[in-house]
Amino acid sequence: MTLVVQKYGGTSVGDVGRIQRVARRIVETKRAGQDVVVVVSAMAGETDRLLQLAHEIAESPNERELDVILATGEQVAIGLLSLAIQASGAKARSFTGTQVRILTDNVHTKARILNIDVERIRQALREGKIAIVAGFQGVSAEDEVTTLGRGGSDLTAVALAAALSADVCEIYTDVEGVYTADPSLVPTARKLPRISFEEMIEMASLGTKVLQARAVEYAKNYNVSVHVRSSFSENRGTLVVQEDPDMEKVMVSGIAYDRKEAKITITRVVDRPGIAAKLFGRVAEAGIVVDMIVQNISQDGHTDISFTVPRTDFHKAMELVKGLAREIGADQVLGDDRIAKVSIVGVGMRTHSGVAAKMFAALAAEKINIMMISTSEIKVSCVIEEKYTELAVRVLHDVFRLESQSAGGR
Ligand code: ASP
Ligand code: MG
Repeated sequence: MTLVVQKYGGTSVGDVGRIQRVARRIVETKRAGQDVVVVVSAMAGETDRLLQLAHEIAESPNERELDVILATGEQVAIGLLSLAIQASGAKARSFTGTQVRILTDNVHTKARILNIDVERIRQALREGKIAIVAGFQGVSAEDEVTTLGRGGSDLTAVALAAALSADVCEIYTDVEGVYTADPSLVPTARKLPRISFEEMIEMASLGTKVLQARAVEYAKNYNVSVHVRSSFSENRGTLVVQEDPDMEKVMVSGIAYDRKEAKITITRVVDRPGIAAKLFGRVAEAGIVVDMIVQNISQDGHTDISFTVPRTDFHKAMELVKGLAREIGADQVLGDDRIAKVSIVGVGMRTHSGVAAKMFAALAAEKINIMMISTSEIKVSCVIEEKYTELAVRVLHDVFRLESQSAGGR
């Protein structure tokens, strides 16, 4: 018998009507002769609501308690979904992360999965039941409730699919799949029938919200094929799979953007060994994650350093860097939180030349100034003024002919 892991996100179980509809869909899959393991997220908005409550009580809540609170969202969802499946005449049983023993490390609010004991799930399947597992949560060796980071239900689903050697992991969401660009910005954006793990990891970390980046990394490591599709339609979505040679025929597969970063520049820093280590060491100690870094060539022994941080950490980072600037005798600290990062992604960049140049020319033609650039083997990102985000994404989508592409069998 084939085994499918289906994950339903928060909007798919956003109210009782939707839970009942999802239940019918799951029961149909079961009746068609497949074993079904379901992973659910908390009902839409619930995790944010719980976070908000915690922050009303404590400015930076204790993370162990935060996990105890956050895990309730998914617990409600599995119970309700299980009831709905039973009401439509099939057998179902819900499991919390602790009950399945989704064993994680003890890093609260962003724990890593170490092992999953699938025996209870297998037992439920043998009894003809549909197993409903809470996403986003696990348990540490010390029996503490942990959570896997925002969007972590995707990771639960992929890890379960790997542990159960499932035939496929279906991620049901409120969009039809992975698009060449955000369809709400680019009306001509096209759904990709397939995308490689590497490209999807880049897209997810560069701001495309359909899948959690860590979940895709996990899928890549265990070679779990992921099918991203809509819970509101029967259409096939996007398959996230291992790269094949055909994929390199396409120069660029997708455009991503991110408006959640801010830029900090520290000017006239003395150019000597140890300064960057001190600056970024201090930032890291404050728990602030730095994304892009640019350092200018030095003139008369001084240089400028710019870097980006999450916008939510902008003020904290500015205060910290201002303090440090005084210490190391830098000139000025300039901040800008109205920036955006636009990126082109595609494994075809490995074999096509001039991709970056084409991107820069397209932005220049629209008089969009590039403030920072970073590249990897399969992506080029540019930081620009936030107000040009839509224009930049549309222009890049056009220039790389993403609306009409048929090459590469995708
Ligand atoms: N409920 C969690 C969140 O909102 C996990 C998830 O939805 O995947 O981040
Ligand atoms: Mg999600």
